[in-house]
Amino acid sequence: MTLTFLGAAGEVTGSCYLVDTGEVKFLIECGMRQGDRQAAARNRHFAFEPRDIAFVLLSHAHIDHSGLIPRLVAQGFGGPVYATRATGELLGVMLPDSGHLQEREAERRGEVPLYTVAQAQASLKRLQPVEYDAEVRPYASVRCRFRDAGHILGSSILEIWVRKTKLVFSGDLGQPGRPIVADPTPIRDADVLLVESTYGDRNHKSLVQTLDEFAFALNDTLASKKGNVVIPSFAVGRTQEILSLMGELQAAGRLPKLDAYVDSPMASAATRITLRHAKLPQLERVRFTESTEESMQINSIRSGAVIISASGMCEGGRIKHHLRYNLPRKECAVVFVGFQAVGTLGRRIVEGAKRVRIYGQDVAVRAKVFTIGGLSAHADRDALLGWLSKFRRAPRQTWVVHGEPLAAHA
Ligand SMILES: [Zn+2]
Repeated sequence: MTLTFLGAAGEVTGSCYLVDTGEVKFLIECGMRQGDRQAAARNRHFAFEPRDIAFVLLSHAHIDHSGLIPRLVAQGFGGPVYATRATGELLGVMLPDSGHLQEREAERRGEVPLYTVAQAQASLKRLQPVEYDAEVRPYASVRCRFRDAGHILGSSILEIWVRKTKLVFSGDLGQPGRPIVADPTPIRDADVLLVESTYGDRNHKSLVQTLDEFAFALNDTLASKKGNVVIPSFAVGRTQEILSLMGELQAAGRLPKLDAYVDSPMASAATRITLRHAKLPQLERVRFTESTEESMQINSIRSGAVIISASGMCEGGRIKHHLRYNLPRKECAVVFVGFQAVGTLGRRIVEGAKRVRIYGQDVAVRAKVFTIGGLSAHADRDALLGWLSKFRRAPRQTWVVHGEPLAAHA
């Protein structure tokens, strides 16, 4: 058996591993590389012939794990893509949205899109839903089991048996004790292990401390200063987590009176899917806006609103409008709840820029900026080591993947 690392090796995006058993070739993940133009160029070429791949095993819906499936199908891959039912439902929203972004980007640059909305939609027909903990047999000599990874809705750890050899792929592991998702399933044995290492060198703040910081930001802005709170948030996973935490705080009497708006069609769709699979603490007075008109109406609200919108790093989407209206007002606040990459508008605001450009306009930053660091969908160093310590004996080989070199080495 040969295992080839084609992405998320010494980096965190573009997850893709090729397994050649001698009888059959299959992929674990088919993710998109994210970042600069160089990364985008690398998405255009597969290091294998798509026609030769018999099937794909997919751990979860995030684009850096799933985003090249439409291109794989468009280039001749004819097999099934095994994933949990919830992953499939999320992909039904995320892959066409990704196709839309690809089309827009290509038009701007005068290029052929990586794939189109239609190709993304066509690739969804390849999804083969599987249940957690049930065994599937994608090939006579290959068995597989999806175990809950507790990272986002539907996320999985993959146990794969090729004849007598057991391969375990951790996928992205969640942080134990977080809302909505379960804790990552402990795995007892493997011959070959691939383990993620995104936060291999760091520990997160506790959930209690995170909730305290979040409650302070909301009370300070809404009750004391009478402004609005704008929360840039990733549509899938993080938005539902924020709603759930706010519901929890409200039930405990720790929130002031407020009106919450989820202003992102993708976040609304992802929340509907989440509610089909999990229970969220009920938040009163929350509205999901769909049309552009409804979104624009939020701009006239002067106080008492919590506006949750995408994109999470403020690079596109409706969040930019909300920032334009609320950033210049000193009674308002922006609460960052996710990672802000270098070069993004979000990063500039976090780093204390006094003025930023939004849609060609010079916007003064007078609003208070909060950064809530403790909300991560990834296991931190202690949680990764905790999961690894559940193995009864060390695997014959352990490959540390999905991490920047420093985090992986740690
Ligand atoms: Zn992920």
